[in-house]
Amino acid sequence: MKSPVTQVLHTLYERYASLKDGKVADYIPELAKADPNLFGICIATRDGNLYEVGDTRHKFTIQSISKALAYGLALEDRGEEHVLSKIGVEPSGEAFNAISLKPQSGAPFNPMINAGAIATCGQILAKDGKSRIERIRDYLSQCAVGQLDIDQEVYRSESQTGHRNRAIGWMLRNFDIIQEEPRDILETYFQQCALKVTCTDLAVMGATLANQGFNPISGERAIAHEYVDNVLGVMASCGMYDWSGEWIYRVGLPAKSGVGGGILAVLPGQLGIGVFSPPLDEQGNSARGIKVCMDLARELSLHMFNPSAVPQPALRRSYNASQVNSRRRLPPAIFRELRRYGDRIRVLELQGPLLFSTFEPVIRELVKQAAYCQHIILNFSNVFSVDAVSLRMLHQVWEQLHAVGVRLTCCHAGRHGQALSEAGLGDDALFANEDAALEACEDALLARVMPDHIPQAPPVPLSGCALLSGCDEDELQLLEDQMETRSFGAGETIIQTGGRADELFLLTDGCAEVRLLLGNNRYQRLDVFSSGMSFGELAFLDGSPRSADVVAISPVTCRVIGRALFDEVGRQHPNLKVKILNEIALQVCDRLRQANVEISALRS
Ligand code: GLN
Repeated sequence: MKSPVTQVLHTLYERYASLKDGKVADYIPELAKADPNLFGICIATRDGNLYEVGDTRHKFTIQSISKALAYGLALEDRGEEHVLSKIGVEPSGEAFNAISLKPQSGAPFNPMINAGAIATCGQILAKDGKSRIERIRDYLSQCAVGQLDIDQEVYRSESQTGHRNRAIGWMLRNFDIIQEEPRDILETYFQQCALKVTCTDLAVMGATLANQGFNPISGERAIAHEYVDNVLGVMASCGMYDWSGEWIYRVGLPAKSGVGGGILAVLPGQLGIGVFSPPLDEQGNSARGIKVCMDLARELSLHMFNPSAVPQPALRRSYNASQVNSRRRLPPAIFRELRRYGDRIRVLELQGPLLFSTFEPVIRELVKQAAYCQHIILNFSNVFSVDAVSLRMLHQVWEQLHAVGVRLTCCHAGRHGQALSEAGLGDDALFANEDAALEACEDALLARVMPDHIPQAPPVPLSGCALLSGCDEDELQLLEDQMETRSFGAGETIIQTGGRADELFLLTDGCAEVRLLLGNNRYQRLDVFSSGMSFGELAFLDGSPRSADVVAISPVTCRVIGRALFDEVGRQHPNLKVKILNEIALQVCDRLRQANVEISALRS
């Protein structure tokens, strides 16, 4: 089946394949040989998916597109201050090969015109046993699909005819923008322009820039994170020669074109686009490439300044402990108190990238909740990234809440956990999961509102089991005499998923949890029982196999009603059986009610 995305590219290909506008570059003789009919379009998504139509695997020389990435390497080698002192970032409004340098300093206007690109080349260091061109080649290859080679013919051809670029080189030397004889730098620049790429390589380079410098195909870091915005910045303002202003107005994507017929465009955070078609328009941009990008940006709504692309608030939903609780079952009287004061514990589920604009509504909510709550839990399970600004603000608000007696904890932080601790959130503010966080907050709340309540339920006699609360002494005695007692060490399995359900368990000592197995040794905690409670009744009643594991989380003692005993009780003491069934029915009602409240809170 053809994806609708590929379909869009096909339509564009069909629309412009027969376009005769533009002329293949011929000022470098070797480039004049390019076939004007070659045409390819590729989109690479931030997660590395490729959509390709046409001649996307045909190799051609990268030319000026290399300038954008080489600028990234120069920044990595020399730092922003130094590079800015040599090369400006102002659009020149002139042709790519203009000999235009700022009158006072002699600094090129920007790194996207030849003067700036040659100066950039001069900033790149030969190091780690590699020459400049080897370093440039490796750097660009890291951003591409694979290792890039130099087209020796194109290189020689440009080197033999590149008198104008040589003139620029000597001008730069004259102004001390480059400190050495420009010969080697110029040869490096010519070779850099002659690196062979495919349209797919361009799209992947774009996706790498869109992906904070990580190449989504190799999964490796290719460009240092801190310079990605510098590279995209000059691409946005200067990438399309003296058509840059019009381009950003109409297409709205940082981009760079080359006289080989390539265009690389980036939608930051989302995708990269590569288009290849050799005939160039008057500004030196691929004629088909421009049309394709304009249509693509309009049809897929890719313009960077399109408000529909604004990230959504990070607050996914919010509920309190009157609605949703930890999986631990509490005795009814305690549970009622918990629900009564439950609005003092609030959970905020977060989502997406946390950056100033998405996180600000969360901050607003935290400030508001500070007036009502004692505990706030931030659930990070759907958080995709956390930027430095959000971390700083989170830490600030954490401290402020602390000062007014509100405890802010985070759960499911996963890969963001380290960043949260480094931002200054104490280790006691991080919980593995929401259940553990809720449990801790519930304990703290109960300790406050029910100071006499004992968190660890003590052992109970059979009469203390809720399921038998309607039984008289004779009935209890009768059961006492016949029920088996079973003990389990912490970690031992009491009930196994899939097993036959012919026993009902009354917990007289310790705690046990119900685990729904998720595969790969992972499980989800469904319930936690403590002494006085019972489990295993559902499958016991309807005879289906056990649907979850029950595991002792402390040493456990259980009393067990087997099916044979239950049937026997039914025959000899029908009243007793009715009492037990009645109690089970009440408990099931209770749980269903709780579940309904939870479901409606979680759906809102
Ligand atoms: N190598 C070419 C030059 O310097 C690159 C120019 C371009 O792609 N615009 O002339």
